[in-house]
Amino acid sequence: MSFSATILTLYPEMFPGPLGISLAGDALLRGVWSLEARNIRDHGLGRHRTVDDTPAGGGPGMVLRCDVLGAAIDAAATPDDPRPKLLMSPRGKPLTQSYARELAAGPGVIIVCGRFEGVDERVIEARGLKEVSIGDYVLSGGEMAAMIVLDACVRLLPGVMGKEASGTEESFEANRLEYPHYTRPREWEGRTIPDVLLNGNHAHIERWRREESERITRERRPDLLER
Ligand code: SAH
Repeated sequence: MSFSATILTLYPEMFPGPLGISLAGDALLRGVWSLEARNIRDHGLGRHRTVDDTPAGGGPGMVLRCDVLGAAIDAAATPDDPRPKLLMSPRGKPLTQSYARELAAGPGVIIVCGRFEGVDERVIEARGLKEVSIGDYVLSGGEMAAMIVLDACVRLLPGVMGKEASGTEESFEANRLEYPHYTRPREWEGRTIPDVLLNGNHAHIERWRREESERITRERRPDLLER
């Protein structure tokens, strides 16, 4: 059973987009995960397939209708579908590496992509949508945010990354930022690779990496050390 993603969007043609290349794209071809992008407008109302309306109480912009979105969600997932239903939203729970791991360990996700000013609050409540944010800034739609959630999850699925180990030493695992990397050439524009990495003493290398990782985390993201 593979990780299955269903996206509800007004722009299904945006998918798979960048998820169709490299690690995620190869894994998609191999069936490690599946992706279905469904058009919310298929459930739009009337001849114009209307999906939005003006905000109750006034104000700028348009709001995605709860009846339209509710119908789109119901058509995408049966009531016993075990996948969590996410709504991309700047008000949501921040996406973190541990949340991506939690999602990747499950059966998949249903992701609703907002547009305009957002979605009618009632559909969030009635369908138990879990709001997820990719950061403290405002995008024009949830599609790129959904791609970021999926990219973070898919690379963690078994068999997607080359080496089993290369997921567990990375930034944010154990709330640390990663140590610096180097590769050939040994010297470039007068800059050399730290000696400790070249003399083959694995205990020393490990200690150096741990110390660098802590130094960089302390300098750049002291908040991580407190978690
Ligand atoms: N009026 C809203 C912003 C709407 S932006 C507010 O002030 O909160 C339009 C859509 O883009 C949102 O419904 C959401 O789906 C998506 N979006 C925008 N910023 C996002 C973010 N930081 N994380 C996740 N989704 C985001």
